[in-house]
Amino acid sequence: MKKKRKKQINCGGVPIGGDAPISIQSMTKTKTSDPKATLAQIDRLAEAGCDIARLAVPDMDAALAFEKIKAKSPLPLVADIHFDHRLAIAAIESGADKIRINPGNIGSEDKVLEVVEAAKRAGIPIRVGVNSGSLQKDILERDGGVSPAGLAESAMRNVSLLESMGFEDIVISLKSSNVRLNTEAYRLVHEQSDHPLHIGVTEAGTLARGKVKSAAGIGALLLDGIGDTMRVSLTADPVEEITFAKELLTALDMRSEGIEIISCPTCGRTRVDLEKIVAGVEEKLGPIRDEYATSGRKLKLAVMGCAVNGPGEARGADVGVACGEGKGVLFAGGEIVGSVEEAEIPDAIIGIIKEYERLT
Ligand code: SF4
Repeated sequence: MKKKRKKQINCGGVPIGGDAPISIQSMTKTKTSDPKATLAQIDRLAEAGCDIARLAVPDMDAALAFEKIKAKSPLPLVADIHFDHRLAIAAIESGADKIRINPGNIGSEDKVLEVVEAAKRAGIPIRVGVNSGSLQKDILERDGGVSPAGLAESAMRNVSLLESMGFEDIVISLKSSNVRLNTEAYRLVHEQSDHPLHIGVTEAGTLARGKVKSAAGIGALLLDGIGDTMRVSLTADPVEEITFAKELLTALDMRSEGIEIISCPTCGRTRVDLEKIVAGVEEKLGPIRDEYATSGRKLKLAVMGCAVNGPGEARGADVGVACGEGKGVLFAGGEIVGSVEEAEIPDAIIGIIKEYERLT
């Protein structure tokens, strides 16, 4: 599928759509009515490389706290509102950079219009997020349940409603925890609309399971050129969502920063403890990895088990090692630069990265 150029909107200085890079979002898991705890989490998200943070605004205490949080936040903030249009208006007046609503659960069109008018006055975008759990009755009856076409139609109906109110600053998201359904629904909306898409697999699950679902669902869309901003949704510390989102974008060559480690699965030919070597390299990378993750630089590192594919991969990487019987041949910039005993490989690789950085 061809990358379809979307309109560009702006969320507190972060462009979404058009030719903007895919931005990474997360959502705080603290009570928004507790500004101190929420700000501490936003700071950690910012440090990890998050571009936009979303906060739940379930009551007026949270809407009022939003203003205090916004005043000190290093990131643009999205207010996530369900059911009560007054909370959406309060959050907009408290400085939200974008709001996320499902117009279908806000109530009458008059209430949606009030929210739209407030967003127009503030000059901020609205994300229309529809959920497979709250599709319109007529769609469910027609399709006999939730379907990709139904989810897409529900989103487009809500988008049309906002457009009929003269509002165009729209981002669309579709929420289903079923990867296949989610992906097909996004493909349909991608074809039908020029508004940018916020992609993700909702309620993807715990750390390990959620990463698999997200890699499959978000990865499939990104490879098709679909998606302008993304959130990995994990039942875990939100910083994990950012780390994984960055890893996913790096793996798809959509982010030119960070360290990509290529390591072989090992097999009957392996004559070193490769798992231990890779773990040692990962551990020793520490601050170097953080530097790469935040400085816009990318480094490809190959840690390979034997002479079959090892030299090729190690030569093709910026820095690499191809192991043999209890030792490893080291590569930098495509050239052999030495050979060390197995136990010394992690330290040798870190030394080469530092030297490689000095020379490049
Ligand atoms: Fe096996 Fe060598 Fe391939 Fe690693 S690189 S999986 S050790 S053949």
